[in-house]
Amino acid sequence: MGAVFDQVWEIVAVCAIVAIVLVAGVVGLVRGRSSRQKELTPPPPPPKPSSPTAPPTDLDSDADGGGVDTLPAPTPTRPAEPEVDDDILIEELPTLERPASARGRLARLRARLARSNSAIGNALLVLLSRGGLDEEAWEEVEDTLIRADLGVDATNELVERLRTKVKVDGSGATSEAEVKAWLKADLLDLVDPEMDRRIASSRIDGRPAVILVVGVNGTGKTTTVGKLARVLVSEDRDVILGAADTFRAAAADQLETWGARVGVPTIRSEKEGADPAAVAFDAVKAAGEIEADVVIIDTAGRLHNKVGLMDELGKVKRVIEKQSPIDEVLLVLDATTGQNGLRQAEVFSEAVKVTGIVLTKLDGTAKGGIVVAVQRQLGVPVKLVGLGEGPDDLAPFDAEAFVDAIVG
Ligand code: GDP
Repeated sequence: MGAVFDQVWEIVAVCAIVAIVLVAGVVGLVRGRSSRQKELTPPPPPPKPSSPTAPPTDLDSDADGGGVDTLPAPTPTRPAEPEVDDDILIEELPTLERPASARGRLARLRARLARSNSAIGNALLVLLSRGGLDEEAWEEVEDTLIRADLGVDATNELVERLRTKVKVDGSGATSEAEVKAWLKADLLDLVDPEMDRRIASSRIDGRPAVILVVGVNGTGKTTTVGKLARVLVSEDRDVILGAADTFRAAAADQLETWGARVGVPTIRSEKEGADPAAVAFDAVKAAGEIEADVVIIDTAGRLHNKVGLMDELGKVKRVIEKQSPIDEVLLVLDATTGQNGLRQAEVFSEAVKVTGIVLTKLDGTAKGGIVVAVQRQLGVPVKLVGLGEGPDDLAPFDAEAFVDAIVG
């Protein structure tokens, strides 16, 4: 019995030893594998190069005597696709956003435009279809249009046309539908559907199109550059951004974030207060090197001193033009600032030749008439409108859709 007992114990002991050896082996294997995975995980991307590029020599002889600061070498290339190895666990790259297509954006955002601006249309419809309009009623029509920031000239013109139509009609009680049709036609004439509102955004003569975006800080300039990049990405354009608003510390970060969301590289300086002209120069150069379709350059807009602003913008323009013509200068105006915005527009158009207006924050104002006023004053078309803070709340301006949204 004792011998049998001893034998059983021997067997149990042997089994236990075998089990321990097996467990140790398995643990060892697992550890080895996971540490191999760590070794093979790709290293984080290298930091942006900080070694400065030598400034182009001809820039040092810039007419105003101001040379160009050196900048870190631009990093225009897109991140390389990681090599996939079956054995490696690779962290998922953030997926790029797919921006909404530009087509039909204004129609999609129509409700927002109508919400803030339908007061103009409604007030006019009520007044005009009342019949038997006396002088007081016509003054009310005028006041409504002036309050909507249409401007005195355009208001007088519109009222004159409407008065003639009411007189010709002669019925004394015009139907609302008829008045609506007149209003739409006359407003559309004022907004001018014939203006060329296309934006230069494809390669021209074998080089990237260059868009310069100017405007007072706070009008929504940087946001507009980011949103415009999305519009162009949705149209399959190869876009590159230049963060030449070097005055506001956060502007370059803000722009880079906008670009990164849709896979668009941003050329910037790591140095706060760097020469904006140098950043603009590097952005245009990088765009040429990677054969981008279009480069969009954000600029600073400090209006504290008109002469300073004009000098700065003038220099950015001259330095860019040393390597490429500027195809588009978009002036960003905040629609809620009314007449003040128009004064800003004058200052900017003295410094650069504005080719198009971007009216931001039209979602937050009942002063849609500013579209007409600013076009008349500057003689250039409104090309884009901002209708909210969302990434895709920027729409190509369409005269018919705009008038439809206002008059209803
Ligand atoms: P910048 O100083 O001119 O570059 O202005 P930002 O791009 O930083 O924008 C200033 C503020 O305006 C931000 O809070 C934007 O979200 C806001 N903004 C820009 N465009 C629009 C717009 O179309 N509608 C509304 N409601 N807000 C806007």
